[in-house]
Amino acid sequence: MSNDTILDEYGKIVITIKSYIEEQIDLGFVDIPNEQQNNELSLPKDGLFGVAGDMKFASMDEIREKVANCQACALCKTRNNVVFGSGNENARLVFVGEAPGEDEDITGEPFVGRAGQKLTQIINAINLSREEVFITNVLKCRPPNNRNPLPNEIEVCEPYLVAQLGFIKPKVICALGTFAAQTLLKTEQQISRLRGRFHTYHGIRLMPTYHPAYLLRNPKFKRDVWEDIQKVKAEYDRE
Ligand code: URA
Repeated sequence: MSNDTILDEYGKIVITIKSYIEEQIDLGFVDIPNEQQNNELSLPKDGLFGVAGDMKFASMDEIREKVANCQACALCKTRNNVVFGSGNENARLVFVGEAPGEDEDITGEPFVGRAGQKLTQIINAINLSREEVFITNVLKCRPPNNRNPLPNEIEVCEPYLVAQLGFIKPKVICALGTFAAQTLLKTEQQISRLRGRFHTYHGIRLMPTYHPAYLLRNPKFKRDVWEDIQKVKAEYDRE
């Protein structure tokens, strides 16, 4: 091969890489995680977020008690039960959904309805059990008729989630659906753009994926969720 041909080939490679990077930027790929970020939690040891908003918590039990008695928004008037979250409080993996639905409001447990069964299948598919991970939601109370969470509800409830994550200090977070992903990442980007790659949340690797309820309505996205959850498991297993 002549020198000119080699230079031509290199030129093509450079152009391909350049257009790939431009495409990634267009897709909102702005967060290139580095090893140091991954290994070093930028969270204070005794509850990251033991301080959340103007609330301070000494333990998960304290958050649980505060949530149980919370009257910070109107959802406290219509709820039957608060849904704090369940599972391993030292989990390496936390799933964060949107808000309790009817079944969750009745039982006080997260993800126990149809979407919950789907989530359980997803968790089992990566050889984990619900007891090994922690499952919670952005909102701890059910919005009437399962309507979307309102901005003020997210605002007053998010500190509980932040505090929970602070105590658990998981290695990986999987944000289920638009609301969880947008709330945690403080972005308005669509889930279809956010999913499929890791973001960083206070030094924790965060993978957004489609909500299991969305998956029930749109089974064609099964493959995407499968790919996302495989990445979550690989990160979970990584020393
Ligand atoms: N959908 C959610 O986002 N959370 C639940 O707990 C149940 C359904």
